[in-house]
Amino acid sequence: MMQDDSFDNYGFSTRAIRSGHHRSAEQEHAEPIFTTSSFVFNSAAEAAARFSGEQPGNIYARFTNPTTRTFQDRLAALEGGEACVATASGMSAILATCLSLLRCGDHILSSSSIFGSTTGLFENYLTRCGMEVDFVPLTDLAAWEAGFKPNTRMLYVETPSNPLTEVVDIAALADLAHSKGCLLVVDNCFCTPALQQPLALGADIIIHSATKYLDGQGRCVGGAVVGDAERVGKEVFGFLRTAGPTMAPFNAWVFLKGLETLALRMRAHSEAAMQLASWLESLPMVKAVHYPGLASHPQHALAARQQSGFGGIVAFEVHGGREAAWKVVDSTRMLSITANLGDMKTTITHPATTTHGRLKPEQREAQGIREGLLRIAVGLEDIGDIQADLARGLNAG
Ligand SMILES: *Cc1c(COP(=O)(O)O)cnc(C)c1O
Repeated sequence: MMQDDSFDNYGFSTRAIRSGHHRSAEQEHAEPIFTTSSFVFNSAAEAAARFSGEQPGNIYARFTNPTTRTFQDRLAALEGGEACVATASGMSAILATCLSLLRCGDHILSSSSIFGSTTGLFENYLTRCGMEVDFVPLTDLAAWEAGFKPNTRMLYVETPSNPLTEVVDIAALADLAHSKGCLLVVDNCFCTPALQQPLALGADIIIHSATKYLDGQGRCVGGAVVGDAERVGKEVFGFLRTAGPTMAPFNAWVFLKGLETLALRMRAHSEAAMQLASWLESLPMVKAVHYPGLASHPQHALAARQQSGFGGIVAFEVHGGREAAWKVVDSTRMLSITANLGDMKTTITHPATTTHGRLKPEQREAQGIREGLLRIAVGLEDIGDIQADLARGLNAG
């Protein structure tokens, strides 16, 4: 009996564990790391055929490497995309997408609640190339509709957003984008394909910071772009091949092994976050809790429909502003005080003075990022220990 080498018709976890690896003549069971920068040809004619594109195959690891390809094919299989291009970081995935799919004079309509460096890339660098960008509130569909210009080519969102976990209707936004001849790009960092598959809802391009949940243990920096064969497989790949923001094979191996446990981890992160959010909501010191799993979340019903889990990020606001929020941070003995997320280790951040510190106070106010707000990326330590660590600063011990 021939064994399967493609797992497209299998379930999510099977694809996460088996897709993309084609066993070599050595019959290795685990995926090998190919630490080679170049590949050899059997003849001058074969070299010529590879370079001309007549014959598929490896040439040089700036653009193809078998370990990186395994990661790419596995992530594409999980997102339901035809093609995936791995990149050196999440930011270079966004840069590669914009520089390969947009031209000078094009307009990006972006959610205002996106990763800080993404805002910086759009405002400070893409504008230098003659692109334009405008920002609209994530959940306000009327504002999206009003924001279109004749030169708008791309809509850009993160959902759920950071740090307030606001959720936008991806299918509705995709319809709107397509009715105006635009692409919808979704940064799927918070949910990962284990909890949300935006391509199936109509999005065109998926961005990943593999640094976060795809790794899951905070070891490597990397990114990826997923989408169709033409835009991602040809255009984004062409940019990567020429410009070279390449993922290292070792990092690709860490990420592809991370994908094997992704569904399990995302389920566990979601369960722990739900428990923590419900507990926080019961405390007198806590003014508001932002978590899509709570019935009190304004887009709870949408999140329940669009996502298969609510994710690991919880934000909450304490009474007493910055002083009270900092007291919670400084009373911890176990939680990591860092802005990173997607790790097994729980992290705590004060957005107003860190990730969102460069915004003007009125911009922060408009986005609802107040001085009393804290963000927890709930890890997989014992939930009782996470609660006890927070209880101290919340007078809830
Ligand atoms: C971290 C992050 C990025 C950037 O990814 P890097 O791997 O740090 O370059 C982009 N988007 C989101 C939502 C992120 O959290």
